[in-house]
Amino acid sequence: MVAPQPFDVVIAGAGIAGCAAALEAARSGARVALLEKTVLPGGLATAGLVHIYLPLCDGNGTQVSCGIAEELLQASIKYGPGAVPACWRAGHAAPEHERLRVVFSPAAFVLALDELLEQAGVTLWYDTVVGATRVEAGRVTVLEVENKSGRGSLRAACFVDATGDADLARQAGAAYVEQENWLSLWALEATLARALDAVQCGAGAPLLKLVTAGSDNIGNGHPPGTKKWRGTNGHDVSNYVIESRRLLRTHYQQCQRDLGEHGRNDAFPLTLPSMAQLRTTCAVVGRTTMRAGEAWQARTDAIGLVADWRKPGFVWEMPFGALLPRDVRGVLMAGRCIASVDDAWEVTRVIPAAAVSGQAAGAAAALAARQGITPDALDVTQLQQHLRARGVPLQYADVGLRARAG
Ligand SMILES: Cc1cc2nc3c(=O)[nH]c(=O)nc-3n(C[C@H](O)[C@H](O)[C@H](O)COP(=O)(O)OP(=O)(O)OC[C@H]3O[C@@H](n4cnc5c(N)ncnc54)[C@H](O)[C@@H]3O)c2cc1C
Repeated sequence: MVAPQPFDVVIAGAGIAGCAAALEAARSGARVALLEKTVLPGGLATAGLVHIYLPLCDGNGTQVSCGIAEELLQASIKYGPGAVPACWRAGHAAPEHERLRVVFSPAAFVLALDELLEQAGVTLWYDTVVGATRVEAGRVTVLEVENKSGRGSLRAACFVDATGDADLARQAGAAYVEQENWLSLWALEATLARALDAVQCGAGAPLLKLVTAGSDNIGNGHPPGTKKWRGTNGHDVSNYVIESRRLLRTHYQQCQRDLGEHGRNDAFPLTLPSMAQLRTTCAVVGRTTMRAGEAWQARTDAIGLVADWRKPGFVWEMPFGALLPRDVRGVLMAGRCIASVDDAWEVTRVIPAAAVSGQAAGAAAALAARQGITPDALDVTQLQQHLRARGVPLQYADVGLRARAG
């Protein structure tokens, strides 16, 4: 397999983080290739059917995540249902409590992502799996990929690991931490009740019906006495998928017992996730690693702001160091595999935060490629200027908030 053209930036994984990185790098003038093992952009947010774009705001009325994080929120509802809460339509501040989030159709989001990536001039390689890396003098220089054309190598000035599982960084020998997952499944179902709702309210949004089985994000509902699952083990990934679908089968068997055989006409699974719905698999060990309790901590190398989606009033400055693997150069991390552990991981692994880290990684990759240096050697002030010029708030003061001591 021969690469059709040389690339400045090669991005592994077209989830939200990879798409954000690709958009930013391409708009910054880099020649960008985005490699994806499925045939859909969006990762867990689309192929994984995770269709709630969690808040861009702090829960106290201030929007903290902007730039591509906001652009993608808007894109998620461009070709389907969902609406920005009315109080947020006028600007970057709104009454407390109502959070700036939307529910979207995964398929509609795919169409909008296709459009954005095409407009930005990103070269997409779908159905392409990223494998081994070549590391020379501590720097990743080549990525081995495989698709229907066979195996091939891609050289680039800079790489971004947006695989969600730190596949690229792990291949390159970077240290990482792992976390096991509770068993759960999110799917979309069709129900007669929702169809009637839709007719009654005269809108299609109720047709988007989530059905869940198993655990929530903290283990409630995990089948008692059963194991947890690792995303870095091929056997675990396959069996996680099989066992999570078994839970859904049990759910519909119960429905049929409750509603009778006819019940399968009134409620049935419509779409199943086409990737394993693992929340946290691998986080690289970074130059800086984000940890529990670090909300409201000021960072001199901040590259974006993210809010805790679970509770109001907790905002994090994301450090550039969390995008830089400690042990290898030439690669930036983006999305749910950045250097962030424990409770901080819960904040940084979700859709808006993946867009924030992705945009910063894309900007850093493009700047590094242009200057012929590895991202760790970048002047952070220059990266911060670049992001601010894009309308991205980086530090608390940028949105009228203040760091808190201790
Ligand atoms: C059950 C569940 C519920 C969730 N609920 C929410 C929610 O309500 N709201 C929210 O905001 N977030 C939620 N999340 C989290 C959120 O969906 C993801 O963490 C976020 O979308 C991560 O984006 P990402 O781009 O970092 O990674 P991913 O979405 O995992 O994207 C990684 C991409 O890389 C590709 N890839 C992986 N390895 C390779 C390889 N070797 N070669 C080529 N391509 C590769 C994958 O196919 C994928 O497209 C949930 C997650 C789960 C599992």
